Amino acid sequence: MPELPEVETIARGLHQRVAGDAIESVWLGSKPQTMKSRPYEIAATLERTRIAQVHRMGKHIVFDLERNGAARAPSPAKASRQLAKSRRRALPLGARSQWIVHLGMTGRLLVCEPDAELEKHTHAIIKLKSGRELRFVDPRRFGRLSVASQGDFEAGGFEPLEVDSERFVALFRGRKTPIKSALLNQKLLRGVGNIYADESLFRAGIRPRRRAATLSRKQLGRLYASVREVLQEAIALGGSSISDYVDADGEEGLFQLQHRVYGREGEPCLVCKTPIKRLVIAGRSSHHCPKCQK
Ligand SMILES: [Zn+2]
Repeated sequence: MPELPEVETIARGLHQRVAGDAIESVWLGSKPQTMKSRPYEIAATLERTRIAQVHRMGKHIVFDLERNGAARAPSPAKASRQLAKSRRRALPLGARSQWIVHLGMTGRLLVCEPDAELEKHTHAIIKLKSGRELRFVDPRRFGRLSVASQGDFEAGGFEPLEVDSERFVALFRGRKTPIKSALLNQKLLRGVGNIYADESLFRAGIRPRRRAATLSRKQLGRLYASVREVLQEAIALGGSSISDYVDADGEEGLFQLQHRVYGREGEPCLVCKTPIKRLVIAGRSSHHCPKCQK
C-alpha cells in the first residue's frame, strides 16, 4: 500500500507530466465502489478543464482544475439538456474544482499514449488535449475517485511535513493511547502509515507501546524531528523512481527506505545488535529495539 512518501512521489511525477494540459473527455468504468462521487459528477467536473497542478494531501492525490473562459464551453442548449437529464453540476466558468484520487492498495495512475495497451482493471480513462491519456488502473478496487469544489475537500488531521513543532507536541500530549496508535491516527496527523511510524519511533528512541501522555516535551520534540526526517528521506529516494509509478512502461514496485526496524523481527538492531522485537498494537505489527527504545 503506498504510504505518504510514495503518494508524494506519484503526485510530483504526475505534476511534471500533466500540469498545464487540459482534459477533453472522460470515460469511467462500471465498478461502483471505485467512484466515491457520482460518475456523472466526476465526468462533468473534469471535462473541459485545465490541470493547474497536481499535489498530495495526506495520502490523496489532488488535481486542481480550472475552468477558464478560454476552455470550450458547451452550447447553452446542450448544457441545459444535460442539466435536465442528469442534474449534473458542471462547473461555471472561472470556477475551480478538484479531482481527488486515493490509490487504495493497488491503484495506479498512468500517463500514456492512446495506443498503449489497455490494462485489465482500468476504471477511468481521461483524454488529454496533448493527445495522451491518464488512466486509473486498480485490480483490487480499494482505490477511490471523487471530485469537490476547491477548498471543500478536507483530508483531515495535520500534514506531518507542514505542522510546526508546538502543534505537533500539543497533538500528542496527554493522550492515553500508545504513541504508535496516536501516530497512525489520521485525525491527528494525516498520511503517516505503519512503516514510517515504526521507523520514526526507532530514530526517536521511543517504544511504540509507550503511552503518549508519558512522553516528555523533549521526547515529543525528538519524535517530531524523526517523523519529518524519515518522510523526507523517503521522498528524496523516490525522486529517482517517479517513472516506475506513472509511466505505463515503467516497472512496478515501491522504493524503500532502508528499514532499521520495520519487518526485521529477530534480526540484530543496527545500533546495538539486540534482536528486533515485533508486537501487535491496535491490530498492526510494530517493530522496535528493546534496548535502544525506552
Ligand atoms: Zn538497539
